Amino acid sequence: MKTTSKSDLFRKLPSVDELVRSEAVAELCAREGRTVVIEAARTVLERLRSEIAASAVDDARLELAIGGLAEAVEREVLQAFAYSLRRVINATGVVLHTNLGRAPLGAAVLEHAHEIAEGYSNLEFDISAGERGKRDVHVDRVFRQIFANVPRPLSTIVVNNNAAAVLLSLSALAEGGEVIVSRGELVEIGGSFRIPDVMAKSGAVLQEVGTTNRTRLADYERAITERTRLLLRVHRSNFQIVGFTEQPSLSELAALGRKHNIPVMEDLGSGALVDLRTFGVPEEPNVFDSLQASVDVVTYSGDKLLGGPQAGLLTGAPELIARIRTNPLFRALRVDKLIYATLEATLLAYVRQQYDAIPALRMIALDAVEIRARAERLAQAFRPLDRVQAEVRDGVSVIGGGAAPGSTLPTAVLAVTVANYSADELAAALRSNEPPIIARVEDDRVLLDLRTVDPSEEAAIRAAIERIAS
Ligand SMILES: *Cc1c(COP(=O)(O)O)cnc(C)c1O
Repeated sequence: MKTTSKSDLFRKLPSVDELVRSEAVAELCAREGRTVVIEAARTVLERLRSEIAASAVDDARLELAIGGLAEAVEREVLQAFAYSLRRVINATGVVLHTNLGRAPLGAAVLEHAHEIAEGYSNLEFDISAGERGKRDVHVDRVFRQIFANVPRPLSTIVVNNNAAAVLLSLSALAEGGEVIVSRGELVEIGGSFRIPDVMAKSGAVLQEVGTTNRTRLADYERAITERTRLLLRVHRSNFQIVGFTEQPSLSELAALGRKHNIPVMEDLGSGALVDLRTFGVPEEPNVFDSLQASVDVVTYSGDKLLGGPQAGLLTGAPELIARIRTNPLFRALRVDKLIYATLEATLLAYVRQQYDAIPALRMIALDAVEIRARAERLAQAFRPLDRVQAEVRDGVSVIGGGAAPGSTLPTAVLAVTVANYSADELAAALRSNEPPIIARVEDDRVLLDLRTVDPSEEAAIRAAIERIAS
């Protein structure tokens, strides 16, 4: 075979201009707009050029590629118009998967969001008075109903996420002063949220007390000075300290705060609004536990165990919440009408005790027997495929999102292998499916946990495996 030099190959490529003037691509310009098509043509030609430079194409392959240039440009244009943020199927069994968007929202929640987003709303308008109102009222009202059994006045405000809630409250309550925290609670939560760093940003000075495994009430009390503004408790969301450990209870800490007239705040992280023991999760403290322990302010996430949109909630003594609300940071961290709409609708499900309407709680509550039956049905469907082996095994799901680090939920997983695919290759093939399917790989097997898969998504999983195996 005659070999052609690289410079000869480069010469065969049309220029961007020539390519755009060719009939098929000119038509694409007319249909989709010139700018995006020129950019796509540039990308396609650039790709071919680097393939030539890397000696990855010979003469014959280049001829073929040049014949298909118009189609390649069209594919590139379609990709430019495709969404980057896409729906995926979460078959990992991690219910509040931070990388996969944490809590999915229920149908009624989305319906309300649609209605609010599509038109105007009374976001900051008092309809009966006909004058300016506050956006806080929309969820504070529902929180009052949810906390009706807590025998003290409470208010709640909303910011962008729990990290923002912690930053805001530290800044509002302790800027220029000291905040006492146990050395066992100087945690890092995923995504570079580190308590010492947030503290530094808030303008408050961290006063560490105790040791990694043991901090006593006396350690806190000894560290109190006239500069102390806050006692902070941070929930160890994503790890446990076991063995020779000690920490004062929240009530003891709250009593110490009252004795010295210093507010006590808890960063709870995953703030459940129900007793999760009824859902088989024994160890996760909830917002009521904190409020009953007389913590002055508790901060928690909207999209963890609460099962709503991304948000940070601050619930506490009305005078402290009012102080936090007037801090300029509150304005910078406020949330929009879509969050108020989805949050209010999620909270109303709690008021009505319709926990089934909250997808995260529904998935946590799913029984392993039910999940096993669904997995068996899927395995059954793969039986006629010679290249597929599917077997149902006992497994564990995790809640994720920094909740209940030690508690897992019993589940049944579908272990799948496809002939000629390693587990990693099969997982990659599932990810490149439309919609992408995200699975777990363990012991060289792809594991699908249907706890986090909506039954309506099972057909897509079945079709993907059939396609990969064909
Ligand atoms: C998750 C978590 C945060 C951060 O919350 P976001 O809502 O993700 O910003 C902060 N503190 C604790 C203890 C957490 O668990």
